[in-house]
Amino acid sequence: MRLRFAPSPTGFLHIGNARTAIINNLLSQKHNASLVLRIEDTDMERSSKESEDSIMKDLSWLGIQWTEGPDCGGDYGPYRQSERFDIYKEYTEKLLSEGKAYYCYCSAEETEQMRKEAQASGRNETYNGNCRNLTSEQKTRLEQEGRKPTIRFHVNPDKDISFNDTIKGSVSFNSSNIGGDFIIVRSDGIPVYNYIVVIDDALMKISHVIRGEDHLSNTPKQLLISQALGFDTPEYAHLPLVMGEDKKKLSKRHGITSVNLYREEGYLPEALVNYISMLGWASDDEEEILPISEIIKQFELTKIGASSAVFDFKKLRWMNGNYIRSTEGAKLLKLMYPFLSKEYDLKSYSDGWLIAVITFLTPYCELLSDINTQISHFLSDDIVYTDEIKELLLSEDGWKIVETTKELFDSKLTSDNFYSDYINLVKEKTGAKGKNLFMPCRSIMTGSIHGPDLAETMKLYDFGKCKIRANTAYNLKQV
Ligand code: GLU
Repeated sequence: MRLRFAPSPTGFLHIGNARTAIINNLLSQKHNASLVLRIEDTDMERSSKESEDSIMKDLSWLGIQWTEGPDCGGDYGPYRQSERFDIYKEYTEKLLSEGKAYYCYCSAEETEQMRKEAQASGRNETYNGNCRNLTSEQKTRLEQEGRKPTIRFHVNPDKDISFNDTIKGSVSFNSSNIGGDFIIVRSDGIPVYNYIVVIDDALMKISHVIRGEDHLSNTPKQLLISQALGFDTPEYAHLPLVMGEDKKKLSKRHGITSVNLYREEGYLPEALVNYISMLGWASDDEEEILPISEIIKQFELTKIGASSAVFDFKKLRWMNGNYIRSTEGAKLLKLMYPFLSKEYDLKSYSDGWLIAVITFLTPYCELLSDINTQISHFLSDDIVYTDEIKELLLSEDGWKIVETTKELFDSKLTSDNFYSDYINLVKEKTGAKGKNLFMPCRSIMTGSIHGPDLAETMKLYDFGKCKIRANTAYNLKQV
């Protein structure tokens, strides 16, 4: 088995293409098959090296392990289409000499006119075959006019083109419905995707082409080319598209769609891969959070439903939170550090303390970046009370708690007992209970009404910080 992922480097890696890569990777791992990374960069205007680099970076981040590609080489290279033009030329010569392709001198305006006419009369053949049988005198005359020819592939009408798709089942097209003789080399000499993809897949000995359903309509053209060149055709599997919740093709309107933004927002690649690889199928016991090794074991292309899958951004966040919580402390600190260091100077904190704090806060983090808001009251002694909290603390009952807190931190509470005894002593002295006890105490210490366990929070703060907070609250009446 030989697989391939063939991105066009014309932008960032989109989540739909990432899914194609992830699924190819799952199968390559499962069957110990080669996975070719081929860069389809013949759209010279839109392709860029930056995009190629960023796609490769994102694929690596997702843990995709290609075995052949432009960076690591392999027996079937080069792996960039722009470096394979000589190869394509040979095949074009062959098709021309066998009469399976021909030079077409029609200008873009003329073919556009034909397309319009075909559309108006309900015909499917958008090109009318004008240049199919030109004599060499006619060709010379057209060339003398300065026309630069394209090369078209000769499509015989009314032929059945059928294939078995692993996901879609049996798929049939009629050759009369694929738009007529199509261009395989543009007038600037650059061969087109639908043509060279076939040559590359054949020469790279790809056995299974697994790609998005948006390529299904390209397949009949590719099969015709493959037959014309005498190649064996690969197995095809077209993955149903990923949709937004409104069942429209996933786009920026629905949420973030490029992989680099997921990384920047603080998703873990394991969570993203887990979520994406299970779009459209369920594990044997319907368990949703599965380690990659288990997904590889259970995954089969035939399990993927033929209808489109809906991308649930909320569920992905939830899954990411799960992965964060199950990440071991030191590793989590490493992952959160880039986010934290953007906002905080962490030099004066020990790794041990930071690990204890972030581990304590993981129930409140769905994204790695959530740590920045959660941790703020741990990293600064200063505290700014919101108007809501000020109102609470300045109320009659609230103020009693503020005064008691100040008193306790000035007398009874010490660095040994401050976190374990604080609440109980306030309760004893003021008689406050439940919410009326906890809300003001938590607000004084943390600046929030809600949050994680207060005693644990205070323990992580240390005595000095708690004392500062007690004073700051008490000073609400002095300023
Ligand atoms: N380069 C194509 C794309 O990025 C993929 C071609 C294919 O998988 O056949 O959509």
